[in-house]
Amino acid sequence: MSKIKKNISCLILFFIIVSISSCAFAMTPTYTHAIRYSRGVGNTCYYVDSSASFFTSSINSAANNWVHTDYGANPIYMTAVSSTKASHMDIYAGYLLDKYNNTNAYTTIWTSSATQLYFNGTSNYYYAEIVLNRNNMTANTENTSTVTHEMGHCFGLDDWTYAYSIMCSPKSERKVTRVQQCDNDTVNYLY
Ligand SMILES: [Zn+2]
Repeated sequence: MSKIKKNISCLILFFIIVSISSCAFAMTPTYTHAIRYSRGVGNTCYYVDSSASFFTSSINSAANNWVHTDYGANPIYMTAVSSTKASHMDIYAGYLLDKYNNTNAYTTIWTSSATQLYFNGTSNYYYAEIVLNRNNMTANTENTSTVTHEMGHCFGLDDWTYAYSIMCSPKSERKVTRVQQCDNDTVNYLY
């Protein structure tokens, strides 16, 4: 190859790399934790405990929203399972007290040997648990948004004050009820 040709191909390669990286990262928000599911999200099995059966349809709608966002592909696939054995996401509900009394729900993360991990830590986690608060979650359409938000935590997304993200909390006046572009992009960034 002549030197000029070589330089031109280098230049072309450079532009390809630049355009690929700006595509991949242009929409990537910076609000994620660095940790995620150690097993990935390609077959996220979720288990609905009998305590949360009241919320089953909201849970299934939320799972469906993460698989089929309105904003293009992501690697998430979700399957409902009937035991916690192989589950990545266990969902319970209860009448929560004390510090959880005013929340709609909360999510915790765990190792394969059931040791709790924390989102501000550095270890990826094996499974996550969502607990829905029956004091605050009644039969209304907000339930699906709440579960979708908590599932976002399971995937590794953090709370965000941006009103047009499903990861915005109702206290920060979330304006959306479904997974948004920025949320979908964050999943693609993490996995
Ligand atoms: Zn949250």
